[in-house]
Amino acid sequence: MAMDISRRYVIIGNGVAGTTCAQMLRKNDPTCVIHLITNEPYPLYNRVSLPRFLQGVLTEEKVMIRNREWHEQQQIELLTETLVNRIDAEERVVFTDKGHQLRYDALLVATGGWANKLRVPGAERVKHIYNFVTLDDTKEIIARALESKTAVASGGSFIAYEMAEGFNVRNLHVTWLIRGPRWLRYNLDEEGGALVDGIARKHNVDILYGEEIKEVVPANGVPSYVVTSSGKQIQADVIGIGLGLTLNTSVLAGTGVETRGGIIVNEFLETNVPGIFAAGDVAEFYDPTLGRHHTMGTWDNAASHGRVAAANMAGGHTPYVDVPTYTSPLFNTTIAFIGSPEANNEELTSISRTTIDDKGNPAYRKFFFKDDRVVGAIFIGGTKGRKTTGKLVKAGTVYATAEEKEALFTIE
Ligand SMILES: Cc1cc2nc3c(=O)[nH]c(=O)nc-3n(C[C@H](O)[C@H](O)[C@H](O)COP(=O)(O)OP(=O)(O)OC[C@H]3O[C@@H](n4cnc5c(N)ncnc54)[C@H](O)[C@@H]3O)c2cc1C
Repeated sequence: MAMDISRRYVIIGNGVAGTTCAQMLRKNDPTCVIHLITNEPYPLYNRVSLPRFLQGVLTEEKVMIRNREWHEQQQIELLTETLVNRIDAEERVVFTDKGHQLRYDALLVATGGWANKLRVPGAERVKHIYNFVTLDDTKEIIARALESKTAVASGGSFIAYEMAEGFNVRNLHVTWLIRGPRWLRYNLDEEGGALVDGIARKHNVDILYGEEIKEVVPANGVPSYVVTSSGKQIQADVIGIGLGLTLNTSVLAGTGVETRGGIIVNEFLETNVPGIFAAGDVAEFYDPTLGRHHTMGTWDNAASHGRVAAANMAGGHTPYVDVPTYTSPLFNTTIAFIGSPEANNEELTSISRTTIDDKGNPAYRKFFFKDDRVVGAIFIGGTKGRKTTGKLVKAGTVYATAEEKEALFTIE
C-alpha cells in the first residue's frame, strides 16, 4: 500500500503573511498539502487599499489580490468563513468551528489583530459605530457615509486618520478626536504633529486634542451626537473608531506557546513550541536593528515574514533580517516610516527638521539613532531618500558626529 509522505501545512489567517507563506510553500514543494484558513469570506485582498476604497477612488475589484481560481491552480485548500478554535500542539491537529480536524507537520499562525471596540455609555445601543480593518467594515462605512452629513473619527493612529480623510473626501463634516497632544504621539515630535495638524485643518477637518468619546447619545437607534471628555457635544451621523488592535493570540490557548502582546518568535519566526510558527502583525519577532523583540503592523513586514516562515516551516534556517517601510498618503501629501522610528523609546536619540520643498510645501524628516547607528526615520512630504535610508538602517551605519548626522537631511 502506498504511504502518503507529503508534508502537511496549516496556515491560520489568509492575509498577506499567510497567503504569501502558502504561495512560497507551494513554489518550493509541488506535492505538499496546504490548508489556508480564514474566518473572513474573501481570498486575499489589499488592506492597504481599503482607505482608497473608502474614499471612492478604487473599486472593490481593485482591492482584491487573489481569487478562488488562483488557490485551485496552486492547489492551496482555502477555507473561508471558518474559524480555528483550538490547536492540539502535541498531536499537531487544528480544529475549526466547521468541524475540520487538520493534521500538520508545521503550522503558521498569521492571525493579525481584531479592532478594539468603543466601550462607552450608549455605544452598545447604537448602529453606525465602525472599526476599520476589514473589507466588510469598509463596505458598511461607505453605505452609511452615503446617507450622512456629519462624522466623528476617534483615535491618534493611522486608522483614525484614514477614516477622517475618507469621511472628508465624501464631503461629510468631520471632527477628529485625538486623546494625546498630537497625531502619532509615539512617533512624531511637536514639530511633526504641528505639520500634520496644519494639513488636516487645510482640508477642513476639525481636530480636538486631549479629547475622546465619553458617551454616545442616540436618537432612534442611530448616533445623534457624542459627548467628549471635556463635555463638548459633537454631532455625528457616523462614528469611526481607531482605538488599536488586540492581536489574535488566543487561538494558541493551551498549546504552551509563549505570548505577550503578540506571539513570541525567534529570528526564524518559530515559537517555543516546535512546529508552530507565527508571522505578520501578530508575531512579536526579534529585530536585530533594535536588539529586541517587537511587533510591527505593516504590509511589507507581513509579506516578508510570510516568505521567511515558508522557508523555515519546510526545514530551512533563514533568519528574518529586514527593514520594513510604510508609506501612506496623508491628505494631499505622503508620510513614510522606515525601520523603527519610536519617539517613546528612551534608548533612541533623534534629530528632525522641516524644510520647504521646491513646490512650496513643507517637508519634514526625522532620524532615530541607537548608539549613533541610524535605526529609523519618518518623512512627511517628499519621500525621496526613503530607499537609501532603508539601506543605511539595514547596514547599521554609524553617524558619530553632529555633522555626519546632519548630512542625512540631504540624502536622496
Ligand atoms: C485600513 C488599513 C490601512 C492600512 N494601511 C497600511 C499602509 O498604508 N501601509 C502598510 O504597510 N500597512 C498598512 N496597513 C497594515 C497592513 O494592512 C497589515 O500590517 C497587514 O495587512 C497584516 O497582514 P497579516 O497577514 O499579518 O494579518 P491580517 O491581514 O490581519 O490577516 C489575518 C487574518 O486572519 C484571520 N483570523 C484571525 N484569527 C483567526 C482564526 N482563529 N481563525 C481563522 N481566521 C482567523 C483574520 O480575520 C484575518 O483575516 C493598513 C491596515 C488597515 C486596516
